[in-house]
Amino acid sequence: KKLIIAIDGLSGVGKGTLAKTLADKLSLSYLDTGLLYRAVGRKMLDAGLSAESEAVVQIAERLTPADWARNDLRTPAVDKVASQVAAQPKIRAALLDMQRHFATQQGVVMDGRDIGTVIFPNADVKLFVIASAKVRAERRWLQYATDPNDPQKTAQIKQIETELTQRDEADSTRAVAPLRPAEDAHIIDTDHLNASEVLAKALEIIQR
Ligand code: C5P
Repeated sequence: KKLIIAIDGLSGVGKGTLAKTLADKLSLSYLDTGLLYRAVGRKMLDAGLSAESEAVVQIAERLTPADWARNDLRTPAVDKVASQVAAQPKIRAALLDMQRHFATQQGVVMDGRDIGTVIFPNADVKLFVIASAKVRAERRWLQYATDPNDPQKTAQIKQIETELTQRDEADSTRAVAPLRPAEDAHIIDTDHLNASEVLAKALEIIQR
C-alpha cells in the first residue's frame, strides 16, 4: 500500500526540509507543491501578465516538471506572485490533478498549504507545522546572512517577518483552499525545536 504523508503549514516554517528528509528516510517520492505556484508566478511575471488573466490559467495547465525545476523561483518577487496566483480558483484547479498523480507506487511526502485539506483528504498522516513569525524570520535571515554581526540585522529580520506574516495572512484568508490545519492533522510547533528534533517528532507520529 502506498503511504501518503501530507505536510502543511506556515510560510518559512521548514516544511520543505522536513518533507525532504522524511521522503529520503522512508524511501518515498517528494513534491514541494509551493514550486508549482512559484513556477506559474514566475512565468506570469516573465510574460508581464496579471494573476487574474485567463492566459495564466493556461500557463498552469501546461506546466511541466522543467518549469518547477527552475532555479529562479525563490525570490521575494516570486514569493508575492506565487501567493497571488494561488488565490485564483481556476489556477488551483489546473494544478490539482498534477499533484494527485504525483502519488506514485511507493508513496509520497508532499508539502504545501492544502495537501491535507484538499489534495489528499485521506492522507495516511497529516502534519501541520507552525512557528512564531519572529523565529521563522530569524531562521530565514541566518540562511542568507553573510555576516552574523551585520548592523542591518534587526531591520532585515523585521522586514522578513513582515513579508512572511503578509503571506500567511493572504494564504489564510483567501476564499479557495485557505491555509488551515485539517481536522485530523498533528500540529508540530517548531519554535523550540531544531531540524533533527522536528524530524524525530514527525517520525514518532508516523510510526504510531
Ligand atoms: O511553500 P511556498 O512558500 O514555496 O509556497 C509559495 C506560495 O504558494 C504560498 O505562499 C501559497 O500562496 C502558495 N501555495 C499554495 N498551496 C500549496 C503550496 C503553496 O497555495 N499547496
